[in-house]
Amino acid sequence: MKSPVHTFPSATRRRFLKAGVAFGGTVVLGREAVAADPKAAFALPPLPYAYDALTPIIDERTMMIHHTKHHQAYIDKLNAAVASEPSLAGKTVEQLLTDLTSLPEAVRTAIRNHGGGHANHTLFWTLLRSPRENNQPTTAVADTIRGAFGSVEAFQEKFNAAAAGQFGSGWAWLVKGPAGLEVVATANQDSPISQGKKPLLGLDVWEHAYYLTYQNRRPDYIKAWWQVVNWDEVAKRLAAA
Ligand code: MN
Repeated sequence: MKSPVHTFPSATRRRFLKAGVAFGGTVVLGREAVAADPKAAFALPPLPYAYDALTPIIDERTMMIHHTKHHQAYIDKLNAAVASEPSLAGKTVEQLLTDLTSLPEAVRTAIRNHGGGHANHTLFWTLLRSPRENNQPTTAVADTIRGAFGSVEAFQEKFNAAAAGQFGSGWAWLVKGPAGLEVVATANQDSPISQGKKPLLGLDVWEHAYYLTYQNRRPDYIKAWWQVVNWDEVAKRLAAA
């Protein structure tokens, strides 16, 4: 049975279609409404802003493809993996990623890649907001960063180096681990959660995240990205870590 597709007056509907907003079990993306499969364990979370909210730092088409195609593909493959192993029913993606070695071998790699992809992207969308010039961390975050790295600038240099230096696809992260705050990079869709570390800030450096605007210029994307970092969300994650 399909979830009901809600109907709205056309003007309202067009507005939400443009923004890509979810209503109940229905995720409205682009020009078509896609009813979420009620049997699937994981569903695409709506973006907390419109696809064009991050322009000109991250363009609208990149955001739309990244969200509706790339993130959706991780979810579809994660759902298929979880559906094949009834013992995994009801687990959150964080629970699945915490101890990969405890997973059945038949789905371990799929959950590492696609569960990681789902968790990483779900987090990434919340860490972005409309561009601000001189976009600085909140006082609490800046103080914590200074304690760990000496200065905000030193932290950003270290983070930029991790992001630029990640060979091939992957992510750069600010994490809280057993030893405190650290900058790390992970390959592919590996999650810091699988290394016992809580991600506070992350940057997707897969080409699909930046290629339409920046082509091969990954360092330009990294430098510009600081203008769309949602430091309020980082502050919330730090307070909860
Ligand atoms: Mn991505």
